[in-house]
Amino acid sequence: MTPPVDPSLAIAGGPDTHVTALLPATAPPPEPARKINFFKALLLYWLLPKRYGPHLAVGSWKRALLAQVLSVLVFLTALLPALPGRISFFSLDDWREMAAAKVIDMATETAMGKMSWISVLLVLLSIPLAELALVLLSILIMPWYAGGDRAGSVFKRSLKSVYWSTTILIPLTPPAWLFTAYRVNPYQWVDKHGEPLAVGVLLLVVGLPAVLFMRMLLAGGTRYVGAPEGPAFAPREPRCDDCGYLIIGLPLEARCPECGLEVRESLPGGRRRPTVWQENEFKPTGFADLLRLQWVVLTRKDFFKRLPVQSGLASARHFWWGTWCLMVLATLLALRLLAVFVEKEDDFIGMLMTGALAVLILPLLLQALMMFTMCLHGQLCHGLRDYRGSAVVCYYASPLMWPGPLLLVLALAPMALPVERLLHEIAVPSPLGGWLDGMSLYMVGVLLAFLISLLWWALRLNRALRDIRHANV
Ligand SMILES: [Zn+2]
Repeated sequence: MTPPVDPSLAIAGGPDTHVTALLPATAPPPEPARKINFFKALLLYWLLPKRYGPHLAVGSWKRALLAQVLSVLVFLTALLPALPGRISFFSLDDWREMAAAKVIDMATETAMGKMSWISVLLVLLSIPLAELALVLLSILIMPWYAGGDRAGSVFKRSLKSVYWSTTILIPLTPPAWLFTAYRVNPYQWVDKHGEPLAVGVLLLVVGLPAVLFMRMLLAGGTRYVGAPEGPAFAPREPRCDDCGYLIIGLPLEARCPECGLEVRESLPGGRRRPTVWQENEFKPTGFADLLRLQWVVLTRKDFFKRLPVQSGLASARHFWWGTWCLMVLATLLALRLLAVFVEKEDDFIGMLMTGALAVLILPLLLQALMMFTMCLHGQLCHGLRDYRGSAVVCYYASPLMWPGPLLLVLALAPMALPVERLLHEIAVPSPLGGWLDGMSLYMVGVLLAFLISLLWWALRLNRALRDIRHANV
């Protein structure tokens, strides 16, 4: 059966049978930017990131920088109660006192003319270093901010969002103030209240702000607001999906004169169709489709030739989060199964904690790095100016990361299985002199396999980006 062709694609004259001169823009006109009251944003951004974020991200630099400076200054007031007093080695707040006292000492010394250059330099350097870290963070999250605007605009929005996200320090100031004012000694506190409660409080004090900060950071990129300027908001010339030949005016039934691909295949209703996941993600069968698509992405070499990349960024992003959850679940399950063989309980808890932490953080970090590299690579080598397409590809390619969790489990396996002693007994001469035991050899093998898997992921992504460079759909 011939797939239906969007009537807007054909030109008048050759009644509905020839390719039009221009395809419509791939994104609807964005909502206009609003100016948000500065103090409202300063105090409430951590609560309402989705509502404020996109508008703050296109606001002025002055406001974004001022918000950052004010947040840091407000947070520093929490150190004030700690200023006077003596120093004890084991108390956190005393350490903070020492830092504050050091700053004052340094100021005095500098004023009196005897400079301790290194400490002054360190303090002075810490400011640009922290700023540099913020810029690096904004570069890393750029693909999340792909909204159809130009790359420069995407970078500006992500950096302003990072500045605004530092306002998380403001709601953290009262608890930090209480902590220093009451001179809480963490060790005594744990002794008094027991470990489970201490872990709970730690999660609340460290984990919750971290999650809120992440949410603020990413929320600004959920949609683009402002002027419709950028590759997604202009009409495009239709091209052959395989070779990029301009197919304007060709009959729909014809083939591309360059590569022979059917003209119809390069247009909506052609070979790029929404994925099953895109259609079912919120239905009960969504989970089954998530599982099935993992396998499809890993095995079907032409997957990215059939993926629509000019739309569906949100469901692609959901697909990535779903894949990440699957990876966490599978790793924890595998470690739990391994634990059956563990003899000492301490070993098991250590293994589970290491595995859980690594599988929570590692895929996120790797994905962010890979997405950034690939968006840049796509722009420079394949001419993909609209980061949305590259981001869709990177999100759908996330199952290519499966060797990572698998190798993590393999790396931790000797801790549980009775092979650890055996591995330690093996000895082979090392190329660097001396001897290598079986355990080190095994770890080097796992590391090598991991590096190879990273390379494989990058090569597959490169091919995927090449497959989408002329995509009309
Ligand atoms: Zn062609």
